[in-house]
Amino acid sequence: MLSKIKSIFRLLQDIDIEQVANISKKVDLNQAMSALNGMNEKQLNQLMKMLSGEGNESNPPPIEADFYRLEEKLPNEDRALLLQLRTFMEKEVDPIINKYWEHDEFPYEIIPKLAELNLAGLPYSGYGCANKSFLLEGFMAMEMARIDSSISTFFGVQSGLAMGSIYLLGSEAQKNEFLPKMRELKTIGAFGLTEPEVGSAVAGGLGTTCKREGDQWIINGQKKWIGNATFSDITIIYARDLDDQNVKGFIVEKDNPGFKVEKIKGKMALRVVQNGLITLKNCKVSEDMRLTNCNSFKDTAKVLKMTRAGVAWQAVGCARGAYENALKYTQERKQFGKSISSFQLVQDILVTMLSNLTAMQNMCFRLSELQDQGELKDEQASLAKVFCTLRTRDVVSLAREVMGGNGILLEYKVARFVADAEAIYSYEGTKEINSLIVGRAITGKSAFV
Ligand SMILES: Cc1cc2nc3c(=O)[nH]c(=O)nc-3n(C[C@H](O)[C@H](O)[C@H](O)COP(=O)(O)OP(=O)(O)OC[C@H]3O[C@@H](n4cnc5c(N)ncnc54)[C@H](O)[C@@H]3O)c2cc1C
Repeated sequence: MLSKIKSIFRLLQDIDIEQVANISKKVDLNQAMSALNGMNEKQLNQLMKMLSGEGNESNPPPIEADFYRLEEKLPNEDRALLLQLRTFMEKEVDPIINKYWEHDEFPYEIIPKLAELNLAGLPYSGYGCANKSFLLEGFMAMEMARIDSSISTFFGVQSGLAMGSIYLLGSEAQKNEFLPKMRELKTIGAFGLTEPEVGSAVAGGLGTTCKREGDQWIINGQKKWIGNATFSDITIIYARDLDDQNVKGFIVEKDNPGFKVEKIKGKMALRVVQNGLITLKNCKVSEDMRLTNCNSFKDTAKVLKMTRAGVAWQAVGCARGAYENALKYTQERKQFGKSISSFQLVQDILVTMLSNLTAMQNMCFRLSELQDQGELKDEQASLAKVFCTLRTRDVVSLAREVMGGNGILLEYKVARFVADAEAIYSYEGTKEINSLIVGRAITGKSAFV
């Protein structure tokens, strides 16, 4: 009896008086008190947990990172495809990816299963491609990066940069030959634009050169950072024509004797992506492997414009994965006898993360709508790339923060997202270069040097 009195006393101490005042408007407090009196100790303890909110700890609300329910805007059949990809990423990639990240290797075994989803070249028409929206493609990029940004990058290079180069700039014969095999992931592609000495300045002049000799082209130079290059069957190489100084594009096959690839080791981000340093030494490529519709850097830029929105979506996925993992962690981790998600300061961090994430998602959603309408401008894609990659850096670092020491352990996943965000921040145009594109559009003055 004494312990029961103590429990009732504790209950009265713990409950919020304002809440009691509100309850009293709805229930007869006298009756409630006599009901309390009739309860045994176990029932009282349960009630205490309920009133202090502790009862929710074992049953927190589901994690909903699509806070403004954008996914609902997709047609049902597209949502079904997205769900298939989600299942694939959660079942086939999530359990194994840390190991590959740690060892700096690529999980080749997932390629056939990924191919079955038939997602490569999703927004292209013809050549067996699905002719779906760029919006769906954006969601797919996010969905992949939500589990692992490296897989999303592998896929972005294949489907966007490599297939996109052929789709936008290739001849009909080249499209017919390569796109169906690439769609099925039977032929893997890479995209070689950046060089050891020319990164942001690619538009200003490539060091890699090409020269026509009869029906052949001779290519010389180096390409750095080329994703998938260590195992790709074909690599799109962009080079400056020594005769007219314009940029030309070539499909170079891996067994070409003038083409050598060295794996770039020691990366602290996107370690699963196999980046290569390519050396082209008197590399002979026949005229029929030159991308017929690539006649200057402006043509190469069409490919980058098409894929830049995808990189912004990828950043959203990276932020989303970090947020989801961090929120789950805060619900499970207890300190001072309570789950850390119940602390005000932790909730403030979680809300900051969700605000950033939601802003990014909405921005990318509209960006893809514009792309689907054929109205996307360079500066719009650049603004999204800048904003999303910047905010992603913030989100992943807050995710790591709320996880304390475990935030730096690979096992808890968020550390991988923190590292990978760094590469997404820099590739396909750094913050500075994309800002200069937006700055030029809004001021009418080019600040490029
Ligand atoms: C993981 C990874 C994967 C990649 N995959 C590919 C790929 O598949 N294919 C490919 O072709 N490339 C790829 N890249 C290359 C990538 O696109 C370049 O790294 C990027 O364009 C930046 O070039 P850079 O690294 O040479 O930096 P730099 O151009 O040397 O820039 C260094 C710094 O200077 C700043 N800067 C440069 N110019 C200006 C300016 N005018 N005004 C103000 N600031 C400036 C930059 O913003 C940056 O902060 C990849 C890179 C990474 C890291």
